Amino acid sequence: ATPTALLTGTGRGAQLGILIRGPQVLEDTRTVDTIVLDKTGTVTTGTMAVVDVVALAAVPAPDLLRLAGAVESASEHPIAQAVARHAGGPLPETRAFSSAPGGGVRGEVDGVVVTVGRADWLERHGIRTSEAQATRFTAAEDAGRTAIWVAVGDDVAGLITLSDTVKDGSAAAIARLRRLGLRPVLLTGDNRAVALQVAAAVGIDAADVRAGVSPEGKVDAVRELQAGGATVAMAGDGVNDAAALAQADLGIAMGSGTDVAIEAADLTVMGNSLEQVAQAIELSRRTLRTIK
Ligand code: ADP
Ligand code: MG
Repeated sequence: ATPTALLTGTGRGAQLGILIRGPQVLEDTRTVDTIVLDKTGTVTTGTMAVVDVVALAAVPAPDLLRLAGAVESASEHPIAQAVARHAGGPLPETRAFSSAPGGGVRGEVDGVVVTVGRADWLERHGIRTSEAQATRFTAAEDAGRTAIWVAVGDDVAGLITLSDTVKDGSAAAIARLRRLGLRPVLLTGDNRAVALQVAAAVGIDAADVRAGVSPEGKVDAVRELQAGGATVAMAGDGVNDAAALAQADLGIAMGSGTDVAIEAADLTVMGNSLEQVAQAIELSRRTLRTIK
């Protein structure tokens, strides 16, 4: 490949809103045979909506929402943005904020410590969920919702359920990626029921769904595919995707994604669509074909 031809491809990419880190990236896209897709914000819009706020103890639902909203307003996760928006404003200040990508958030609001997120994030802070509470949680997940725990102090106060929407064009783009010879794999920190629903909606095989995966688990998933002989592209947008994007043979970030994801990626699609991801792969193959 001559450098001039590759740079032409890069220029065309820019016209299409595809920012490519360097000419070598186009070489890499030629050989990818597997595309790992993050769910939230990549296959789906990433604008989640609160469906239900369920109080499971003494704290009434509106208070629970307000406390959770206050802590979540310090996070940029799609779940956090939905909860903060739903809580409305003005929200009380949060002190001593901490968070774990793919885990949850925690902070002090109105003199109480509020912990929001996955069960393992709560457990890390010594908060246990009872069997009866877990049954409620699982029921929400089985209904295809994303569910998060809310704890006030050392006790579970309730849960919040959310919905997410598949992006227009995701299904068509995945069909196009398949025609390019790529096997799509869905990878998410969210629960399995939600992941399977999204996979069915966009044409990803149930066998190629990896759910409940931590950010480190995402790296392992990419590594496993590579160890199996695959050349892996990965598309993602979150802090939780950054390490996996770096591990992939070709990392693709959504333009609306977090800075760490964009920094870790080889290529960024400014329009945030999977159509553009397919376009990027087509473009690079065309560019290389004309110069061979
Ligand atoms: P995804 O892979 O779908 O982008 P993440 O890895 O970011 O998901 O998150 C995985 C899970 O961790 C979420 O489904 C949620 O249960 C929990 N989580 C992550 N961030 C937050 C947050 N800010 N508030 C509450 N829960 C969170
Ligand atoms: Mg995401």
